[in-house]
Amino acid sequence: MRGNLYLVATPIGNLEDITFRALNVLKKVDLIAAEDTRNTLKLLNYFEIKKTLISYHRHNEEIKKDNIIEQLKEGKNIAIVSDAGTPGISDPGEVLVREAIRENINIIPVPGACAAINALICSGLDTTEFLFIGFLPLNKKLRNDKIEEIKNATQTIIVYEAPHKLEKTLIDLKDILENRKVVIARELTKIHEEFIRGTVDEVIEKSCDLKGEMIILIEGREKIKQENYLNNMTIEEHYNYYAKKGLEKKEIIKKIAKDRNVSKNEIYQQFINKK
Ligand code: SAM
Repeated sequence: MRGNLYLVATPIGNLEDITFRALNVLKKVDLIAAEDTRNTLKLLNYFEIKKTLISYHRHNEEIKKDNIIEQLKEGKNIAIVSDAGTPGISDPGEVLVREAIRENINIIPVPGACAAINALICSGLDTTEFLFIGFLPLNKKLRNDKIEEIKNATQTIIVYEAPHKLEKTLIDLKDILENRKVVIARELTKIHEEFIRGTVDEVIEKSCDLKGEMIILIEGREKIKQENYLNNMTIEEHYNYYAKKGLEKKEIIKKIAKDRNVSKNEIYQQFINKK
C-alpha cells in the first residue's frame, strides 16, 4: 500500500502555535522532508520528536521529488514542512503535490499557522475577498505587471516582503495607491508583533529601519472607481484587460456588456466583428 503525503503547517514564530495533530503526524510519519533541516531539527528537539529528516527546498525540489515519490510508493508516510507556516504558500510543496496527484498518492493537509491569513484578519481591511500576491517578482517587467494588477484589484491585497526591501517596495507602490489604506503586519506571534496602519506615505515614514518579518496589506480599489476605470477604456482596451486575466472570448464579451450596461450583441457589433 502507498504511503500518505502530509502537508504540515508549523509555527510562524510562537512555538505554541503548533497543533496537537501536527505533532502527532510528525511523530508517526516515517520521514520529514524539510525546507531547512537545521531549522526543523530545532522544532523537533523542542517537542522531543526524533525523526529522519531530508532536505526539500526550492533549489532541489525537482531532484528530490522523484525520490520522495518513490518512497511514498513503497508505502512510507512522509510529512512536508517549511521553515515557518504553511507549506506551498510562498514555500516549497506545490511541485511535489502535483506529482503525488499524478501518482495517485493520498495528500493530507494538516492545518496551522499562515502569516498571510493572520495578517489579514487583524488588518482592519476587508476580509471577504483578498488577492494573495506572495513576493513581488524582481524582474522589472514582471514586477510592473504585478503592480498593475494591484492597482486594479478591488480585493484586499496581501504581499510578502523582506525587511530590507520594504521601503523600496512601498516607494514602487506609492504612485498607484493614492489614499488607499496600507497596513504593515510585522513579527506576527513574536515579542515585537506590530501593526502599522495609515496611507502609503504615513506607513513609509513609520517603517524606516524596521526589522523582522513583515507583510504589506493594501486596501482594494473602490468598486465604483473600478467600474469608471473600465468604462473609460476603449472597448479594445476593455477586452484586453479581461484577456490578460485569462478569460475566454465568450466570457469577456459577457463581462464587458455587464460593465457597460449594454447588450452582448452591441459589443460584438462594435468590436468583435471588426477583429
Ligand atoms: N509559508 C509561510 C506562510 O504560511 O505564511 C510563508 C513563507 S515566506 C518564505 C516568508 C514570508 O512570510 C516573510 O518574508 C514574511 O513576508 C511572511 N512571514 C512569515 N512569518 C511572518 C511573521 N511571523 N510575521 C510577519 N510576516 C511573516
